[in-house]
Amino acid sequence: MKIRAGDLVVVISGEDKSSSPRRVVQVVDGGDKLRVEGVHQVKKHVRRGHPKSPQGGQLEIDLPIDSSNVLFYCGHCAAGVRLGVKFTEEGSKVRFCKKCETEVGTIGAAKANRSAGVSS
Ligand SMILES: [Zn+2]
Repeated sequence: MKIRAGDLVVVISGEDKSSSPRRVVQVVDGGDKLRVEGVHQVKKHVRRGHPKSPQGGQLEIDLPIDSSNVLFYCGHCAAGVRLGVKFTEEGSKVRFCKKCETEVGTIGAAKANRSAGVSS
């Protein structure tokens, strides 16, 4: 799974479908599910003494949604896009937008032996 917490995504399916980018709060189930800010929100009723609500009452919670229902938001394309993964010339692993080829973050540090293998 290429989406990380803190990324912007576009929800493409379900009742919270919209074209505006939203931030991923948490990646769950090893990347199969994501909590996205303001998406799949439910009100949970809690008793007094809950750490997030000492008086009790309602808490708004973002339930995880399936990661197949979102697309990574590319700021360059201003749209949801698919991500690819490639190795740079220095050998580090990066994510890139498949539409505009812009790199959108490193996911692995450079390894000397890897770049040597590519160049030969
Ligand atoms: Zn792009």
